[in-house]
Order: sequence, then C-alpha cells, then structure tokens
Amino acid sequence: MSINASGWRPEAPQQGTKAAPTFTGNKALMLEEALIFEIGDTTTTGVEVAAPARVASRLGDLARNNTIGLPGLSEPETVRHYTRLSRQNYAIDLGLFPLGSCTMKHNPRLNEKMARLPGFADVHPLAPVDTVQGALEVIHQLAHWLVTLTAMDSVAMSPKAGAHGELCGILAIKAALEARGQGHRTVILVPESAHGTNPATAAFAGYTVEDIPATADGRVDTAALKARLGPDVAGVMITNPNTCGLFERDMRDISDAVHAVGGFVYCDGANFNAIVGRVRPGDLGIDAMHINLHKTFSTPHGGGGPGSGPVVFSKALSPFAPLPFVEKTAEGFRLIEEETAEDHHTQTFGRMVAFNGQMGMFTRALTYILSHGADGLRQVAEDAVLNANYILRSLDKTLVAPFGPSGPCMHEALFSDDNLAEGFSTIDVAKGLIDEGYHPMTMYFPLVVHGAMLIEPTETESKAALDQFIGALRSVAERAKAGDVALKSAPHFAPRSRLDETMAARKPMLVWKDPLLAEAAE
Ligand SMILES: *Cc1c(COP(=O)(O)O)cnc(C)c1O
Repeated sequence: MSINASGWRPEAPQQGTKAAPTFTGNKALMLEEALIFEIGDTTTTGVEVAAPARVASRLGDLARNNTIGLPGLSEPETVRHYTRLSRQNYAIDLGLFPLGSCTMKHNPRLNEKMARLPGFADVHPLAPVDTVQGALEVIHQLAHWLVTLTAMDSVAMSPKAGAHGELCGILAIKAALEARGQGHRTVILVPESAHGTNPATAAFAGYTVEDIPATADGRVDTAALKARLGPDVAGVMITNPNTCGLFERDMRDISDAVHAVGGFVYCDGANFNAIVGRVRPGDLGIDAMHINLHKTFSTPHGGGGPGSGPVVFSKALSPFAPLPFVEKTAEGFRLIEEETAEDHHTQTFGRMVAFNGQMGMFTRALTYILSHGADGLRQVAEDAVLNANYILRSLDKTLVAPFGPSGPCMHEALFSDDNLAEGFSTIDVAKGLIDEGYHPMTMYFPLVVHGAMLIEPTETESKAALDQFIGALRSVAERAKAGDVALKSAPHFAPRSRLDETMAARKPMLVWKDPLLAEAAE
C-alpha cells in the first residue's frame, strides 16, 4: 500500500463498490480521514528551526539512535486533519441527543461567556483569599441555591463528579457511624436498578453491597427493603427519580424505616432535573445526595468532562462533611480549610480534593440557575417530564414500554426489545438510528429491562424536533419488527459500517504500525 503526503491511499478504497462508491472514498461532503501518521511524514516538518549547536551528550547509551517517528505536517494540513476529524463527531450543537441517564445536553452560550471571564477562568487555587472574593462569592451563592433547592442543611462543593460525590456521601455516613461507635455496620443496600456507580462506591468505601429487588412497576420493592433492615445496615443508596425514569413514591416511608434502625439514606441525585423546583429531597428524609452540576445545571459532559458533583447533607451528617467550605463574614468571604470549634465543621472526615472544586462548572451552574430563576427551574423539570412522556406515549404502540401501563414517566422513557423480530435486538435499532442522523439512545441499561432503550429528550427540545426523532425511531423500529435484514448491517451511510465492537473492546489496537515497514518486513 502506498500513502502519499495528503493521506490519500490510491489502493485503499475499492472504487465503485458499495462501501466506497467514489474515487476518494468520500461521501459528498463527508470526508474520509486517515491517521495523522499516515498523512504526515517523518521527513517533513511544518516549522523551520535552526539546527542546535552540537553539545556533548550526557545520555550515554540511552541516547536515541533513530528518529522519533512523529509525523510532520504543514499548518494547513494540521488544521484540516483535526477539522475533518471534528466533523465526524455527533454533538449537541448538531442535533438531538436521546441518551438516557445523562440528563443535561444543553450548553447555553451565556454560561460559556461567564465561565471565560478572566476573574473566573484564570483564578488560581493558591491565590490569596482577599484577591479571589468574587470567585468565593460565586461558590457561596451557588451553595446557597443548592441547599435551598434541596431543603438540606449544608453542601460540600468540592467533589468533581457524581461518582466522586457518592464517595463523599458514603464517607460522611461512615464517619458519622464511627463517631457513634457503630463502625460494625457493614452493609449498604442498593436496589438492583441502581446506576453502576452506586454499588461500586459502597464497595470502594469498604461496605458489603446487598441488592434489593425491583417491583413489577420498576420501583424499589419497599417490603423487601424493610425486611432486610437491621443492626448491620449502614444505609441505603437509592436513585430518585430512578434509572427506569420513575419517581420512587415510597421514599419518605423508606427513609423513616432506615432511620428507625439507625441507618442513613443516600440519594443518587443525578436525575434531579426531573424534580427540581417541585420536590425537595430534604423533605423526603434524605441524609446525603450528590447533584451532578453537569447534568442538572447545564454543561454537557460527553467526552470526559469536566464534571462537578456537590453533595448536600442533612443536619445529622453536616458535621462530618469534607472541607473546604466558603463562609460569608462581615469582612468578606472566608475559606474554611481546617476543622474549627466555632463553626459546625467539627468532625469532618477530611478532604475530597486538593483545592476547592471546579470553578468553571460552578460559574456555569450559577449562570444557568440565575438565568432561569426559581420559577424557571421548576419549568425545566416540568418540560423535561412533558417531553419524555410525549416520547413514551408516541412510541408505546410501536415498542414495548414495560412500565408504560403503570403511569407517566419522569424525565426519560424506557422501552424493551421484546417485540422485535427473531434475531433482532436493540443494537440494530440503534445502528439504524445512526443512518437516520441520530446519536443512539442509551442501550441495554437499566439491566432490569430486556434490551433496554432509555431515551431522555431533555427540556430543551421543541415539539418539531421530538416529532422528527419519534418518526425516525418508529420507522427503524418497524423495520426491526418486520425483520428487515438490511438493518442487521446498518449503519450504511456512516463513514464506517457495522464494526466488531466486541473485538475492538477485547483486542484494541493502540499502536499504529507503519504499513510500509510491515510490508518491507514481509
Ligand atoms: C451519571 C450518573 C452517575 C455518575 O455521575 P458522574 O458524574 O458521571 O460520575 C450516577 N448515577 C446516575 C443515576 C447517573 O445518571
């Protein structure tokens, strides 16, 4: 195979075949893109630097005796390479993102403008406190909103993601139990529909995890949970609204029962956007709950973050919460970084992070909250629930909605693959959706539903956008029900067709091998 400097490989695309019907392998304005190693050349360079003066090497036999092998490209070649790659990504700025259990897929430009103000963007964690009063005020104001919206006693702002917040909450529970001389409580109960991070967190903190079954209508089996409560139970971790997109109606009852036997209630608040402004977790007896700022209070978290997972605490757990805290005093804002007798951070379990949390996320979340106001946030929850129910009811005659008959859903609609043709599963529907121009929904999660398709439209989509998505999904689902074999090899219009994802996961090729060298070696 030969590769020329522009990355175009004359022999690579089979011209005129179904896979590559064009000379270049490009499809209209969708451009093929080779690896940068294939485009670049180790003998070319985009910069001109004078040869360095020769100095005696002190590396001895560790000195490199061959070229480093980095591809050289000119500036326009480099820019084009990364721009072409970026066009192969699906993004919230391109279209609807139906992923469930992900919530926020809205990225208001105002947030970005605020987060980029130099006073927030360039703030240094070691800057003297009197030079960063504005940043501390943002953290303090946001903390006030979070505590108010949840009706809780305090909030630890520093955890950096939902899972990190879970660990923070469970460590506070552990510290509280130990302070009471109850370190012997070793069991945390987790419903079987829980997000995977819940049992992982409990196990990581040293607890034994026990599953609580779900009822036929997709909620925690309260009777089974109560039957398991006892002196060895440290607490429960419950997601509400849960990962089936349903509100746990027995929450208050569950909290009372757990408290009655001396345990604590952790709530996974990743789905808070479905109830914000309508339900206050503190009223449900919850002791600790993380809030994914990157889900409920904007900024999409695809592509690895950054996230932010502040944890709100009840009165019982507040003394054990981690440092630091921002406090408002007559002289200005103070950063509390040590246990102090005069405030209520007297039994803190320590710290979660070296510094103070994700300033950029705090700024975005506060911007989002202030631009909506209290009434606007309530509307967020209402619209998120309305949109999800519109999807649920528009498709429950096409697909099986396992919990559809038991009433409305919260912020996400859940379907199974139960009525697809023999041999067809959720993956075929998902791949068909790619041909229709959509990123697929969350698949095969939650585990309690066979071939789960979890769809969360969010509050920001218009009826027209929902109608088009519903039409696309209905069309693909009908093909899967009719056993259309073309669907088994979809997507057909994407740069790559159906990939062997198992092979890619099990035997990933992480090192590029130069085909010219490989050829020479043969
Ligand atoms: C996203 C999510 C988490 C984990 O949050 P991260 O910020 O990704 O660590 C936990 N629980 C539920 C229900 C979630 O949706």
